[in-house]
Amino acid sequence: MTNKILIVEDEEDIVTLLQYNLEHEGFDVCTETDGGKAIEAVAANQPDLMLLDWMLPEKSGVEICRDLRENADFRNIPIIMLTARAEEADKVEGLSVGADDYMTKPFSVPELIARIRALLRRVRPTPAKGVLEFEDVKMDLETCRVTRGTRFVHLGPTEFRLLQFLMERPRHVFPREELLKSVWGNDIHVELRTVDVHIRRLRKAMNEGGEKDLIRTVRAVGYSIDTREPDEADTDGDTSVSEE
Ligand code: CA
Repeated sequence: MTNKILIVEDEEDIVTLLQYNLEHEGFDVCTETDGGKAIEAVAANQPDLMLLDWMLPEKSGVEICRDLRENADFRNIPIIMLTARAEEADKVEGLSVGADDYMTKPFSVPELIARIRALLRRVRPTPAKGVLEFEDVKMDLETCRVTRGTRFVHLGPTEFRLLQFLMERPRHVFPREELLKSVWGNDIHVELRTVDVHIRRLRKAMNEGGEKDLIRTVRAVGYSIDTREPDEADTDGDTSVSEE
């Protein structure tokens, strides 16, 4: 998944440098040069992380940081402060108003990128790295590649997360409510039926090469990944790919 970084910085050269390098590293980047519009930019872009300059026209980075931390919607956005100040007291002030990390200009871009990645990992730990395997299905969590035998399976991000969740505990039946909560998150209003829609897409992609159906539908309960043959008692009729 692509992380979106919002850069709030009034020095155009730094914005250009950062945007170029971050995009090169695979991040989505949005920018704002006016401190007074920083909060609006956060609301409009919903970034995964924010690089925030200290000295900005209209509103300082410290004020912006404080405002964000007092706002229930934006409280959890990871913030790295960028500043020309190097005094220990300033650093402490930056961190005490809620910045997660702090870099002093001039900074090394590779170090900044390393800190961005570290912060993203910390705030949103990714599940175990490596490869999940079940029967002929392989899921490489680092490259996000899924294969069945030698065939590459194309999955959207939601189907990928659904499959990952099922693969982490093979044969365990997950209620649809649990899948909804884990894959879509707590505060998103999604109907239970949405889970069924994405399971259907997942199943279609997984079985496209005529492989055995490993997604088991347990009627009125939920789903699992299992080798057990579907039977009338525990399927709701959507196990057949040919119906798609
Ligand atoms: Ca500045």
